[in-house]
Amino acid sequence: MEHVTLNNGVRMPVLGFGVYQIPADRTEQAVSQALAAGYRLFDTAAAYGNEEAVGRAIRAGGVPREELFVTTKLWVQDAPAEENARRAFETSLRKLGLDYLDLYLMHQPYGDVYGQWRAMEALNREGLAKAIGVANFSPDRLLDLTFNTGITPAVNQIETHVFFQRAADHALMREHGVQHQSWGGFAEGKNGLFTNPVLSAIGETHGKSVAQVALRWLIQRGVVAIPKSVSPDRMAQNFDVFDFELTDDQMAAVAALDTGETLFFDHRDPEMVTWLSKRRLDG
Ligand code: NAP
Repeated sequence: MEHVTLNNGVRMPVLGFGVYQIPADRTEQAVSQALAAGYRLFDTAAAYGNEEAVGRAIRAGGVPREELFVTTKLWVQDAPAEENARRAFETSLRKLGLDYLDLYLMHQPYGDVYGQWRAMEALNREGLAKAIGVANFSPDRLLDLTFNTGITPAVNQIETHVFFQRAADHALMREHGVQHQSWGGFAEGKNGLFTNPVLSAIGETHGKSVAQVALRWLIQRGVVAIPKSVSPDRMAQNFDVFDFELTDDQMAAVAALDTGETLFFDHRDPEMVTWLSKRRLDG
C-alpha cells in the first residue's frame, strides 16, 4: 500500500474503505471482508450509525492496531460545542472499542465550528486523535479555519470524482498542506460513471475496469480514495489499482470529463445548511 504523509507526520494509506450507507447489520461482515481483501483504512462517522459494527470487525480481524487507520466524524453539536464535541468523541471511541483514532473529522462546516475545532485540537494534543481534519469545507471556510486556529486541518474530505474534480480546491489544499480526500469517488454511480465510454476505453488499454480507472485517476492526482462496496469481488477489484499507471494523455482525457458541478449537493446551499444544521444524532 502506498501512503501519504499528513502535515503532522502521520502516515495515511492512499486507499481505504468507506462504510456510508452500509446498514449497521451488514457492516461487520463488509469490514471483515475488506480487511481480508487488504484494506487498512476504514472511514465511518457517528452519523452512519455503524461505528459499533466497524469496531467489532476490526477487533475480530486480528490485524495489529498500529497497522490500521481508523477515521470517524464528529456531527454538528449543540452549545456548548467544545464540551459536547469531546463527549461525542468519547461516544464514538467507545462504540468503536478503540483507545485512539487515527483521524477525526468535523463532518460538516456548520454550528460552532471553532468550539468544535478547539475540542478536536485538545484531543489531538492528548494523542487521542492522531490527526484531525474536516469534511465538506469550501476553500473560504477552510482558509478561515486554518488562519484562525492553532492546528491546520490535516485533511479535507470532499465530494471528488471524475465529474466534479475540484482542481481549485485541490491546489489550495496543496498550498496549505491539507490532504485532499475524496468522498463519492464513484459518484455513487451517478451520471453513468460505471459505463462512461472514456473511462471504459482507458480501462481496456490496461485490462482494468472503469472503477479501477476512476480510483487510479484520484490516486495519481494525490487524492486519497475511500470507495464503498458490499461485494467482496468489487472490494478486491477496487483494491487492485497499484499495478498500472494512467498516461499523461489518459489523465488529460479524464480531466476533460469535469463538469465543475456537484452531483449531490452544495454545502453552501441555504436548504442544505438548514437541513444539516438542524439534524441531531441520538446517543
Ligand atoms: P462511492 O464509493 O462513490 O460509490 C459506492 C457505490 O458504487 C455503491 O453503490 C457500490 O455498490 C458501487 N461500487 C463500488 N465498487 C464498484 C465497482 N468496482 N463496480 C461497480 N460498482 C461499484 O460512494 P460513497 O459510499 O458515497 O463514498 C465513499 C465513502 O466516502 C463513503 O462510504 C463514506 O465513507 C465517505 N463519504 C463521506 C461523506 C462526507 O460527507 N464526508 C459523504 C459521502 C460519503 P456495491 O456496494 O453494491 O458494490
